[in-house]
Amino acid sequence: MPTAVEFIAAVAPAYNATAEPISTIGVILRFGLTISDGRTIPYEIEVEQVGGRRATAKEREPINLPQFCPQRHINYDGSFCLYWREVSDLDITDEKTAHTWWKTLWKFLTLQARVKKARRWPNENEWAHGTAAVHQHRAELAAHKLGGRYEVALRERRLSVVRNRRVLQLFKDKRHLYSVWFDSKKVVNLKQRCLCGTTGKKGGKRLRRCGSHASDASQLVAALFLWEVEEKAFWDSFRDKQCCGTCDNCPLQLSVVRSSCANLALLETRGRPNDPTIRKNTCDYPD
Ligand SMILES: [Zn+2]
Ligand SMILES: [Zn+2]
Ligand SMILES: [Zn+2]
Repeated sequence: MPTAVEFIAAVAPAYNATAEPISTIGVILRFGLTISDGRTIPYEIEVEQVGGRRATAKEREPINLPQFCPQRHINYDGSFCLYWREVSDLDITDEKTAHTWWKTLWKFLTLQARVKKARRWPNENEWAHGTAAVHQHRAELAAHKLGGRYEVALRERRLSVVRNRRVLQLFKDKRHLYSVWFDSKKVVNLKQRCLCGTTGKKGGKRLRRCGSHASDASQLVAALFLWEVEEKAFWDSFRDKQCCGTCDNCPLQLSVVRSSCANLALLETRGRPNDPTIRKNTCDYPD
């Protein structure tokens, strides 16, 4: 069976892209991305196989994008966070899933053009970082099974998990909904009324007798917990790294911004040599 990268390369012509193999696991994609103002940005994207069915992508040289920017979902090694909530299958196993990957890449790069103007990531809530996206997706599936109000609460970021010794407690806003054991992830009190609100002959159904809801409730908490752990690990890994200066309100230390502005100006100059606004924009930080 072809690898993930081979599938990606095989469908490249559909995006007017060329694919040049550079190793047994790597390929360079070259294409033009037309953005909203009609300009076409030439891109060289290096794609590398990860395991059997995944692939990472990064700009070959940091010409259009910063080398690194957590706000813009560009990891420290330059690779993009490409997985997000609409991607239901994260594996590339055929041409169909390779097209999903390409569309995600396209959307990612189109968003980057908007970020450059707006100086912030436009849909903050819809794109988790790195592997956190996997847990985000699992949480969404579980919330969906428990019913619409949990889906909405999740989307509005009103669900939170708190660890309290041996249990993980799920809260909606400040209201405690239920707890699961930290080790087994099983719901602590299976006799409580189910969260979905379904009623039987004797009133509200018990959680343990309400279809798959006991396991959905358990999965929701487990996924929310791991999502938070991964997001935190993501940001912690950058604790002493410099901000690239292209976004406002970057969580990375502002104190190091000024020193990195010069680097950024250099970096940007390679892409657009005559743009007089670059230096001003990238150093536009408060004292
Ligand atoms: Zn940045
Ligand atoms: Zn990210
Ligand atoms: Zn139920």
